Order: sequence, then structure tokens, then C-alpha cells
Amino acid sequence: LPLSEKALIRRTRQRAGRAPGVLGIGDDCASVRIPPGHEALVTTDFSLEDVHFRRRLQPAASIGHRCLLRGLSDIAAMGGEPLAVFLSLALPGTLPQSWGDEFLYGLLKLAGDFGITLAGGDTAKSPGKILADIVVLGSVPRGKAILRSSARPGDRIFVTGTLGGAATTLRMLLEDRKKKGPAAELRSYFYPIPRIEVGHILRKKGVASSMIDISDGLSTDLAHICEESGVGAEINADAIPRARYGKLRKEVDLRLALHGGEDYELLFTSSAKTRVPAQIANVPITEIGRIVRGRGIGLTLNNKITRLVPQGWEHFRN
Ligand code: ADP
Ligand code: MG
Repeated sequence: LPLSEKALIRRTRQRAGRAPGVLGIGDDCASVRIPPGHEALVTTDFSLEDVHFRRRLQPAASIGHRCLLRGLSDIAAMGGEPLAVFLSLALPGTLPQSWGDEFLYGLLKLAGDFGITLAGGDTAKSPGKILADIVVLGSVPRGKAILRSSARPGDRIFVTGTLGGAATTLRMLLEDRKKKGPAAELRSYFYPIPRIEVGHILRKKGVASSMIDISDGLSTDLAHICEESGVGAEINADAIPRARYGKLRKEVDLRLALHGGEDYELLFTSSAKTRVPAQIANVPITEIGRIVRGRGIGLTLNNKITRLVPQGWEHFRN
């Protein structure tokens, strides 16, 4: 990496942009104004080379985009609005400068699309691989965040968009020796759009009783809602909106729709009497099951009910 830390920060500062109410890069701390009547939402996410991404499979801009996406998706899942992002970046000394530039381009493009600025961070040389850690600061009207812990028996369960697309595309990329991949799917895998607008509308209209983003996989993330809310769930395999891929628009494997991570859709519950639109901000909303008393998740498949064991992504699992 030919640039020094100082030069890198200067470059980052030039590109970071500005947002109203934010004093960003250049001082000891950033200063971010929280809108009146709101409280802060804070989320942090690691993006580690060969854990969360592989350099050879993805353009650097996509890695930067997805790095920020993970934080924005968490803000969306609370029904909040993002205010600023912070980036701690450790890069190996052998990395071409162009990689760093493209990574930052991808991250800043997404930040700009959502009206937020890169307001600070830290820069270091990594002895090995690329490590990027982001903090996203957001806000939500006081006491109004949508939690994982407020699902109640009788609530219906919904997901936004389609599931299994990211895991299917990743599988194809890993198997594709020429590394060309399926063009149509690549864009949505490389540059997914965080569901900020949907999350915001769900909160404002009082539709969602609980919510989480699907980053680790439906089975694992639904289990989080169930555990935090002290409830069980029943879902219908046929109702799960599976992503389609390839020329034939084939549906992805059910297992990948159930357990594949990284789709960054929203999973939410809604009380039985609440009307839930079929589409919000042009994103389809699909009912997949309901919350029940007790523990565990039942999956109805071919008229049989089986127990759905969470098999999504989990670190430290052998
Ligand atoms: P300090 O020694 O006070 O931590 P630094 O020299 O590390 O300050 O950083 C100077 C400024 O540059 C700070 O505002 C910091 O937030 C910002 N900064 C450093 N690295 C990054 C980065 N990777 N992305 C965005 N801002 C950064
Ligand atoms: Mg520093």
C-alpha cells in the first residue's frame, strides 16, 4: 500500500462528503446531532477477509458496499434512520492502492445513497489480511425502536423480498472456476439495498410488533425473535418466497432459503388484526407463518410438521 496513514486519511477525508448536523473527520471525535425527540441507535460489524468475504470472488467496491450494508440493515431492523458511519480499517502493506480506493468508493457510494457521511474511523497496517470494522450511528423516535423481544402468540410472520439468493450466488461463485458467475444474480449479491425505507414505514405505520434483519439465515434469525420474545413459531415451507436464478428463473433450493445467510431482508411479526400491505416501497411482503405459545419452530412441508433446527451462519461452530 504505497500511501502513508496520513495520506490515506487525507484522501478519505476529501471523499467522505458532508451531512447536516455532523462534524466529521479531522478532530479527536466526530460530533453528530441527534434529531429532537430521538435516541441513538449504534451497531458495529466486522468484515474480515476470508471470514466475511473473499478478495478473489468480489470486486473491492462490493466489499465496501457490503461492509456498510450490514450496519444499515441493523438500523433498518430497528425501524431507524442512519446518521453517520465510522470505519476502522487495517490493510496489509502489500495491497494495491486501487483496492483501497475501490473499497472506499463502494462504501461511500452507498453512504451517499442514504444521505449519510463517513464521519470518522481509524487506519492501521495489518500484518496479514484485510480487516474492516464499521460503526453505524442512527436514530429512532424515543422508545419507538422495533425490538426482537416483542412478538406475541397469534402474531403473523412476514419477510421482505426473496430468500436464498445470496447463498445460491455465493455457492455458484465458489464453484465457478472461471469466476464469471451468473451476471443477473451478481448485482444483487454484490450490491444489495438495505431495507431502510421498508423498516421505517413498518415502524411509522405501527405494522411490525417485532423485527430482525435476516443476515445469518431465516431459521437462525427467526430463532432469535422466538428466544427473545419467549415464544415459538410455525412456518409453511411453501409460503417462503424463494429467490429465482439463471435463464430459467429456477427457484433456489429450499434449504438455502431456510438457512442461507446474507440476504439482508427483514423478518417481522404483526398482530393478527393489523393489515399488512402486499408491498411496501416496491418491496414484496410475504406471510410465511405465525407465532405460537411454547418454544421452537415448526416447519410445515408436504403436509407434515417437522422441527426446524436453526442452521444459519454461526461463528465458533465446528
Ligand atoms: P486519533 O489519533 O485522534 O485517533 P487519527 O489520526 O487516527 O486520530 O485520525 C484523524 C482523523 O481521521 C479522525 O477524525 C479520524 O476519525 C479520521 N479517520 C482515521 N482513519 C479513518 C478511516 N479509515 N475512515 C474515516 N475516518 C478516519
Ligand atoms: Mg486513530
